[in-house]
Amino acid sequence: MKTLLKINNISIDYDLEDYTLPVINNVSLEVKENEFVCILGPSGCGKSTLLKAIAGFIKPIKGNILLNDQEIIGPDRSRGVVFQEPNLLPWYNVKQNVSLGPKLANKTQKEIESIVDKYLGQVELLDYKKEKVFELSGGQKQRVAIARTLANNPEVILMDEPFGALDSFTRKKMQTMIRNLWKKNNSTIFFVTHDIDEALLLGTKIYVMRSGKKSIVKAYDINYTSVLLKNPKEKVVEEDSFIKIKEEILDLLEE
Ligand code: ADP
Ligand code: MG
Repeated sequence: MKTLLKINNISIDYDLEDYTLPVINNVSLEVKENEFVCILGPSGCGKSTLLKAIAGFIKPIKGNILLNDQEIIGPDRSRGVVFQEPNLLPWYNVKQNVSLGPKLANKTQKEIESIVDKYLGQVELLDYKKEKVFELSGGQKQRVAIARTLANNPEVILMDEPFGALDSFTRKKMQTMIRNLWKKNNSTIFFVTHDIDEALLLGTKIYVMRSGKKSIVKAYDINYTSVLLKNPKEKVVEEDSFIKIKEEILDLLEE
């Protein structure tokens, strides 16, 4: 598979009033087309900072990030971001929110209609087109945010704890939905989470991240997500390999 993103030995500091806080230290990793990469680590270890650097909101003090061999110098449509808070335009309805990107990309009215229908269908909100977003539940809002990102047809979808604010039932449903979307659209996803099960159940690759001199401490190739795509009822969390990796990651994060 083609390599889409290349993170070359980046470091990121924050300049505070009296001192400099080093957050990302010497991170190198690659994201290939069609991968579902999960960055897993505790709160405060720098996951959002890393994601914002890939989005182009923050520039590394050292190293660089390439998308298709081009250095990332700022945000653009090639990377779509889904945050924990959906950040929709509350006075717009669902359809208007999802149409925004395709409109800015000068798509025709007919193209916009078909894009909106496609992605609202995928997040099961076709019947909600005319609803104002402030009337929706948290899970529904996040589904609109996901459809809005997909409508821009980004090369990489960056997700920063997108289900962190949702109750556990809604969260489970959203995980199933995102797995199906990833498969259906052949998406490449870079997904940040502090939840080990979430990373193991969704990813094809996990990078374990923590604070300290070395930000990424281990990488795992996994594929429980494909097992669940075939059979959503499969009890992968009870598999020996699943339990073993989970224990190993917990140990790594406790060191
Ligand atoms: P995570 O997403 O893993 O919880 P973050 O990337 O948000 O971690 O933050 C990593 C560290 O950087 C934390 O100690 C946080 O307080 C600090 N930090 C994050 N954003 C800023 C900022 N804009 N200015 C100063 N410090 C920040
Ligand atoms: Mg964060």
